[in-house]
Amino acid sequence: MMPPTCCRCSRGVESGDPCELIRFARSSADHQWYVERESGRSETDHPPDMDWFCSEHEATAFAHQHLTRKEAIESIKNRERWFLIDLDLFDRGTPPAVRESGVGFESAFSTYFDHAVSTINDDGDPLWTQYRISLGGDVADMAVNGEGVFEIQRTGKLMLEIKKRLASKVDGVGFSDLISKRFALETRKHGVGSALHLVDEISDHLRIALSDERFLALFRMV
Ligand SMILES: [Zn+2]
Repeated sequence: MMPPTCCRCSRGVESGDPCELIRFARSSADHQWYVERESGRSETDHPPDMDWFCSEHEATAFAHQHLTRKEAIESIKNRERWFLIDLDLFDRGTPPAVRESGVGFESAFSTYFDHAVSTINDDGDPLWTQYRISLGGDVADMAVNGEGVFEIQRTGKLMLEIKKRLASKVDGVGFSDLISKRFALETRKHGVGSALHLVDEISDHLRIALSDERFLALFRMV
């Protein structure tokens, strides 16, 4: 068995981060490997349909389990790159800059929400830094309203609602997972435009007072 180090980043044995072994669909070569192992003829002991993922990348891996391991890794690597862009609004002469980058849409959205809620105070007033995230391209899309760029309007009710919920000690982590997975799923299925449309839809619902349960239901998997 390979040592438990994430196949998408360097977290694992050396950094002390726990990783999980995740199984993918079996290719015919994978089936053959299991047949050979049963008969004792296999030379390797790491199952070819499985790989290690850290906590930041496991949700993305789970979303690709219907593919073979090779297809899943290729797809995550080639289609799910992301760049977190920050804009300094205090000094308008400073060009937008890439603050962080990575792979996997779930980690993209959890990183984005983490940063985005820090750009408003507890009353929802905007501060001097703003974030947006460029999804899916090989390089960061710095264009205003670029095609693969996701951003929630900071002064709207939705961002304040997200900020409050993420700050909850009781279920902040659960809410972070919920919205990250929901927006990742939407982007993977129909593109960034569809994720932005979802933002509009949720914002519309927020105009009427919603019960906790109905608000959370807006983010549940479809
Ligand atoms: Zn990782």
